[in-house]
Amino acid sequence: MSDKTERKGMERRRFIKRGMQATLAVSLGGVAVASFMKSYAGEMVWQIDPFKCVQCGRCADECVMMPSAVKCVHAYALCGYCDLCGGYLKPNANERSTAAENQLCPTAAIKRKFIEDPYFEYEIDEELCIGCAKCVAGCTSFGNGSLHLQIRHDRCKNCNECAIARVCPADAITRVPANQPYLIKGDFTAAGDKAKKDTSRMSDNN
Ligand code: SF4
Ligand code: SF4
Ligand code: SF4
Repeated sequence: MSDKTERKGMERRRFIKRGMQATLAVSLGGVAVASFMKSYAGEMVWQIDPFKCVQCGRCADECVMMPSAVKCVHAYALCGYCDLCGGYLKPNANERSTAAENQLCPTAAIKRKFIEDPYFEYEIDEELCIGCAKCVAGCTSFGNGSLHLQIRHDRCKNCNECAIARVCPADAITRVPANQPYLIKGDFTAAGDKAKKDTSRMSDNN
C-alpha cells in the first residue's frame, strides 16, 4: 500500500471516529437526555425498532405532534459515505449534487458535505425533518441502512397510547425502558452506556 493510500485510509478512519462521536451527541442530546432519563426513571417510553420499520411514511402523519416527534437519525458507523447516496438523491437525479431538484428529502433536511474523494458525509437537520422515512427507504434499498427513524424524547409527549404505534403496519413501535430510550442502529450498547454514565454523574452531583 502506498504512503498516500495509507494516509487517506487513516484520515478516513479518524473522520469516521469523529462522526461516530458526533452521532451520539446528536442522537442522544447529551446532558438534556440525562435529565430526561432522570425524570422518567423506572418508566417506559415509546421507541421504534429500526429493524422492524418498513418505512411506510405514517410516522410523519400520525403523531399527535406537528411536526412529528419522529426524526431520522444517522448511524455514521454503518454509513458508506457514498457519493451516490440512495438516501439523499432521487433515483432519477440528473447529477450527484446538492441541487434542490436532485434531493429526495421533501424538506431538504439532509446536509451533504464533501469529505475527501470519493466520500461524502450526510447529516440530518432535525428542525427540518418531518419523519417521512423517504431517505430511510432509499438508504435501506440501495445502501447500508445507516439512516433510520427514532422517536426523539425531547419532542415526544409519551402518550399513554402512541398514535403511530396504533397504525404501524410492522408493529415496529413498542415501549422500552426510559433508561435506554433509543434503539440506535450500530450504537445500541455505546449509546446506552454513555447515557448511564451521564445519569450516574448527575446523581453523584446531587
Ligand atoms: S409507522 Fe411503523 S413502519 Fe411506518 S414509518 Fe413509522 S415505524 Fe416505520
Ligand atoms: S427524507 Fe423525511 S425522514 Fe428523511 S430527513 Fe427528510 S424529512 Fe426526515
Ligand atoms: S407517543 Fe405521542 S408524541 Fe410520542 S411519537 Fe407517539 S404519538 Fe407522537
